[in-house]
Order: sequence, then structure tokens, then C-alpha cells
Amino acid sequence: MDPSATRRIRTCFKKSHLSTRTDYSAAAEANPTFLQKDMIRYEESVLPTERNKKRGGLRNTKGILVGQDQIKRLQATFRGDLIQAADFEYEQARKIWNASVDKYPGIIARCTGVADVIAAVNFARENALLVAVRGGGHNVAGRALCEDGIVIDLSRMKGIHVDAKKRTATVQGGATLGDLDRETHIFGLGVPAGIMSKTGVGGLALGGGVGWLVRKYGLTCDNVLSFDIVTADGEPRVASSEENQDLFWALRGGGGNFGVVTSFEFRVHPVGTVLGGLLIYPRERAGEVLRFYRDFTQSAPEELTVYAALLHTAEGMPAVAVIACYCGELTEGDQALKPLRNFGSPIVDTIQPMPFPQMQSLLDTAFPDGNHNYWKSTFLHELSDDAIDVLVEHANRAVSPLSGVVVEYYGGVASRVGVSETAFAQRQAEYSIAVLAQWTNPAESQVHIEWAQVLADSIRPFSSGAYYLNYLGEEGEDTIKAAFGSNHARLMGVKKKYDPKNFFCLNQNIKPRV
Ligand SMILES: Cc1cc2nc3c(=O)[nH]c(=O)nc-3n(C[C@H](O)[C@H](O)[C@H](O)COP(=O)(O)OP(=O)(O)OC[C@H]3O[C@@H](n4cnc5c(N)ncnc54)[C@H](O)[C@@H]3O)c2cc1C
Repeated sequence: MDPSATRRIRTCFKKSHLSTRTDYSAAAEANPTFLQKDMIRYEESVLPTERNKKRGGLRNTKGILVGQDQIKRLQATFRGDLIQAADFEYEQARKIWNASVDKYPGIIARCTGVADVIAAVNFARENALLVAVRGGGHNVAGRALCEDGIVIDLSRMKGIHVDAKKRTATVQGGATLGDLDRETHIFGLGVPAGIMSKTGVGGLALGGGVGWLVRKYGLTCDNVLSFDIVTADGEPRVASSEENQDLFWALRGGGGNFGVVTSFEFRVHPVGTVLGGLLIYPRERAGEVLRFYRDFTQSAPEELTVYAALLHTAEGMPAVAVIACYCGELTEGDQALKPLRNFGSPIVDTIQPMPFPQMQSLLDTAFPDGNHNYWKSTFLHELSDDAIDVLVEHANRAVSPLSGVVVEYYGGVASRVGVSETAFAQRQAEYSIAVLAQWTNPAESQVHIEWAQVLADSIRPFSSGAYYLNYLGEEGEDTIKAAFGSNHARLMGVKKKYDPKNFFCLNQNIKPRV
């Protein structure tokens, strides 16, 4: 490569906030005749934005800069990485799944263990910082990030220990579902969780957690035996059926309101090979497919969880898909799935036995990192013909082929837990509707957001008035309150006890009772 280009790359690298060294050298190596104009364009794309350069510092909630001497003091007790705007990892570290969320934290404290979490919490409290907690970074509203303040980033805390004899798994707060499935699967075990391998266990479990095992084994939060948590006062605590029972109750559905969960202890279940996959039909058949789906799910065995989705195929064809997972005996699964597979000659049928982790990543490519996303969601008590017609009519108007509508049916074990037994209140509403707008060009955001909003408004007359906490985007206080339902008042009491100053406020927030 031209030596002057190499020099420029080095200089640019030093000055830049480029996230990864490998991106940089790969770009340079891929083109040995790296022309100067390419270099300039490249510099422009990777150098910190004007906005970042201007702010570039850790500020407290009053906007006052926190001095480097304070940060050095934290550094002395911190084993993980403290990433600031001038560091090359910063750009990458402040990215989350949803590219529409573009925030500039003052510092990202990437913790290696409980001691780091305690140090970060104490530092944040003593310096009056806004605090965000990052698990898997999948929250669509971007609650894993904040402006100016501190992100307590758990992405290095992914340790998992499975005790096959006791049927438990101890999982650190930054693990993803993929990390968890990988470790449990080797023992032929699994934890009921979501349907995407990159989603964080932390946010998902604290907000409820629905996925392919929900009907047979319940919500993710129903399977937590104990939490290790650092609360706002910087104290490590255990919450279980024996210790801090009020906190144990609140953490099972109350979201990230009560502290940083450093570790979850889960009950695990026998799940090895499942029978799963997709059936795809042309979109013109959406009405009849959704009606069949509704009737079929009502009498399906609890081993079988089935979702339906109005989406586009990878080739861009508008379609309706039915996605199924049977987690019991495979021969019985074959029988259970027969009516579904025999219905209406699907143009694609990929249902087959597969290892559970494969099922868990079947839809990963449909929700890649770095696209723009906006979600609306609600619950329906029943999927009436009229509701189906509204869903289909509006799904057909989707402006982006990446957007879609997902209908999820729960019931089963999750619905037999009492509404007040855990903080998760929405156990009776059986159909969850998720409106997922996804696009790549930020200049088009408005049109895609409007599509989702109009669809959500149109389905509102059929809504049970409840919402699923984990699918909520940026919503008002009333919607968040409705998601906690009849448990909201009790949650406010627990919040007052463990976080009276609302230190953990960047979440689906519960205000402390006054
Ligand atoms: C593509 C995709 C697929 C999804 N599929 C499912 C699904 O199948 N089932 C389902 O139930 N949900 C699903 N979700 C929703 C998901 O559960 C929520 O977005 C959840 O908040 C993600 O958790 P996270 O740790 O990745 O998120 P983050 O953005 O890191 O955090 C979300 C919230 O949880 C808090 N939090 C995270 N970890 C901790 C912790 N250890 N201690 C304290 N607070 C913490 C954060 O402070 C924040 O308020 C999906 C989301 C996406 C984007």
C-alpha cells in the first residue's frame, strides 16, 4: 500500500472514534491503492460527528461536566472498560440493535463482574448521573442507552453455569438467549425465553419473556428461582422466595426498575430436539390462514406454540407465515402438526426436527442489527374475524418489505399463574399483536412510523387495553401503566423501598410511591 496512505490511516485512526480496528485495517487492506479521495471520504464517515465532538464528556443530570479526576478514581477500582467519547471503541459501544436510537452517553462502564457493577452504581449515584443499564441492547426504545450519563454495560458478563442434576442454570446479566441456549442444550435442557438468539436474557426475563416454550413451561420470569441484584444504594442483594420476597415478586415482570441484575438462577426443562419451522402462503390467503390459525391454536397441545405473521419473503413477496415449535415427543408432534401442515397447501413448509438452538435462531436474519425499527403492540382477548380483516388490510399497506405484523398465541402454563403472583399481570389476554416497522433509509422514517401508528390505532377497538412490556416502544406513561396492569400500585411501593429516588429511571418506568 502507498506509504502515505498508511500514514494517513494511522493518523486518522488515532484521531478517530472508529469502533473497531479490524474494520479499519480490513478497509485499507481490501484496497491496496487506497486513493486519497477514498481516504478522505473514509475519514469523514468514521470521524466523530460534530455533535459528538462538541458534547464529548460525562455530564451529570444538571449538565455539569464530571472531571477526569473523578473518572480516574472510578478507574482505580474498576476492572472492566471505561469507554469515553475519545476512545476508539466508543462508536461501536454506543450502538444498539435499533439504529433509530442514536445516543451519546458520557461514559460506558463495561463491567466484568458484581464488583464493577457496584463501583459503577456508586459512582453514578455520587456524581448524580443519568443511568442506563445495557443487557443485550435489544430494547426497541433504546433503553440501554442515555445521553451524557453512564451506561452500565453488562455485555462482558455472559457466564453461565448449568447444574444438570439440580435442573438449574445460573446466568450472568449480560448473556444473550444464544449464549444461554448453547450452554443448556449440551445437557438436553432449555430455559423458556424468546425467539431470537441475540436478545438479552436480562431485559427479556425482567419484562416477562415469551417464546417457543411459553405454553408448556411458562414465561421466562416464571422460571426464575432467584436474582442477584445490585440496588440503587450499591448493595448486592438476593431476591428469591426466601429472601427479599417483595423484590422477588417485583422482578418477575417489573422490568429494569429495581437495580442491576448481575445474575439469574433459572429452572431448566428437558428440551433437546424440537419439531419446528415455517409454513408460508401467499398474502392473498392471509384472511383464511389467520382464521384457521385462530381455531387451530385454541385446541393445540401445550407443547405446541404457534405464531402467525404478515410479512414479505426474502425475495420480497407479500406472504403470510405460520411459525410453529413443538417441544414434546416428536411422533406426537407430527400428529399435532398434521392439521396445520395439511391446511391450504402452503407454498413453503420447512417444519422438521431440529436442535432447539436452531429453532431459536430461525428468525435471526429477519431482524438484523443496524436497521431502523419502530414497534407498536397490544393484546387481544380474541382474534375476531373483524380484527383479522383490519390486520390484513393494514399489513397490505406496509411501505417497507421489512415491516410486518406478528400474532402470538399464549395461554397454557403462563395463563395459569395468578395475576398477582408475580409482577407480570397480562396473563389472561391470549393474542399478542406486534406491529414491527423496519426500514433501512433513515430519511424515510416518518412514513414507516406512521404506518405502524395507523395500524395500531385501527386495531385499538379490539384491544384488551393491555400491552406487553417487552414489546413497547417509546410510549407515554398511561401505556406503561397499562402494561403493568393491576400490579402497578404494588410495584410503586416496592420501587419506593428499593429505589426511592428513581435512580433507575431509563426503563418502562415505575415511579416510586409518594
Ligand atoms: C428482534 C427482537 C426479538 C425479540 N423477541 C422477543 C421474544 O421472543 N420474546 C420476548 O419476550 N421479547 C422479545 N423481544 C423484546 C425483548 O424482550 C426486549 O426488547 C428486552 O428489553 C430486551 O432485553 P435486552 O437485555 O436485550 O435489552 P436492553 O436494551 O439491553 O435492555 C432493556 C431494558 O432492560 C433493562 N435490563 C437489561 N438487562 C438488565 C439487567 N441485567 N439488570 C437490570 N436491568 C436490565 C435495561 O435497563 C432496559 O431498561 C425481542 C426484541 C427484539 C429486538
